[in-house]
Amino acid sequence: MTIPNTIKETHEKIKSGELSIRALVDSFLKNIEEKNSSINAYIEVYSDIDEQVKNAEKMFEEGRETIMTGIPISLKDNMLFLGHKASSGSKILENYTATYNATVVDLLKNAGAIFLGRTNMDEFAMGSSTETSFYGITKNPLNEEMVPGGSSGGAVASLSMGGTLLSLGSDTGGSIRQPAAFCGLVGMKPTYGTVSRYGLMAMASSLDQIGPITKNVADAETLFNFINKYDKNDATSIPENLRTENKKEVKKIGVPKSWVTGEGIEDSVKENFDKSIETLKSLGYEIVDIDLPLSPYALAVYYILMPAEASSNLSRYDSIRFGMSLPSNNLKNQYEKTRESGFGKEVKRRILLGTYILSHGYYEAYYGKALSLQKAIQKEYKNIFETVDVIATPTSPFLAFSIGAKTNDPIAMKLSDLFTVPANIAGIPAISIPSGDANNNLKHSIQFMGPMFGENLLFEVAKKFEENVQ
Ligand code: GLN
Repeated sequence: MTIPNTIKETHEKIKSGELSIRALVDSFLKNIEEKNSSINAYIEVYSDIDEQVKNAEKMFEEGRETIMTGIPISLKDNMLFLGHKASSGSKILENYTATYNATVVDLLKNAGAIFLGRTNMDEFAMGSSTETSFYGITKNPLNEEMVPGGSSGGAVASLSMGGTLLSLGSDTGGSIRQPAAFCGLVGMKPTYGTVSRYGLMAMASSLDQIGPITKNVADAETLFNFINKYDKNDATSIPENLRTENKKEVKKIGVPKSWVTGEGIEDSVKENFDKSIETLKSLGYEIVDIDLPLSPYALAVYYILMPAEASSNLSRYDSIRFGMSLPSNNLKNQYEKTRESGFGKEVKRRILLGTYILSHGYYEAYYGKALSLQKAIQKEYKNIFETVDVIATPTSPFLAFSIGAKTNDPIAMKLSDLFTVPANIAGIPAISIPSGDANNNLKHSIQFMGPMFGENLLFEVAKKFEENVQ
């Protein structure tokens, strides 16, 4: 069976009776059955899919359908779906069952979307390769010797292997865009505060955003527009009347030259990026050299703010309130025993780092300083968007790498986020889309960043680029 290209086409075909929801879902389930044992994209395929299909069919029968009715989607393992397990890729939550729906889940469920299952991820979204999950590694469907990127590696792989039409990921420092780039897909991190974080297990609350992973820009736009809603349950959700970006179209694209001439960037990535810039010029965009002198510090700022917030957020896994509990002779020993056994190495590394950063005597030196620098970086982006409409960069300094290649070198692993982290630090939206074929069956990619609430600008330029990329 041929799967239609976009959500809209799929919707039209279901509506006209040309395609049944059952057949659509079955074709994905067949691919999952064939491929998941080697790729390990899904930790679990939900057992209530039949019920969800029947409900979606009924919505069509009764004329209550929406654009999402009957559309299959996979959920990253850190999003809550009532009555279903959710573990954030961790042993400590192995047997945890969600007691409510995340807002994104609620929106899509009420609209009749079909949740196929939960996807593998780096434990608590900490990583760039999906090698730190308690549930094993995920392989890149484009080339199974390579990592799929991370932390939303299972999410992108579920789509890339033909196991769903859409996927939802979360992005704290690049976890949607970098894996989407590694697997030849579109991945988008919305403006902070546009998509509700209610029911998303927190990593670093001031940076986390849920966003779409799709096969094309049109679907990213459809899905984003669907989940881009104010939510009173999320204290950082921005009311819709305050979400304003006045620019209507993209004319000038800024390129921070120094980013792509720096060390550690693969030659083929540079070459492909230069080619992409030529494509953008031929499409009539004015390319402007820009300077973002503070951006090189974004990664350092991220690796202070993120562990600080994560160490605090993860204190809730205390053997009492959620998940695993290993009894001991007193409470302190119980905490220690459970957390020692329940958390993996990378999570422990970040909890230790974060606790140190927040400790009395170091708080101002590290956390306070990082916060001031974050403010300065936010200002730098705000100012630059007065002169250019969007910014173009490669998504990652390198292509998907071999499984195991960076597991013993956490610093090298963290360089994966060099180009993606600034958007999280500045709170601005960014999208990654494929920009051509690379060696070993892999794909190149380009990232566009926009001003706050400038998602429309990103979709516009990304769609034009997508149509014209060779
Ligand atoms: N790879 C980054 C990290 O390890 C980003 C993770 C994310 O965006 N969740 O922290």
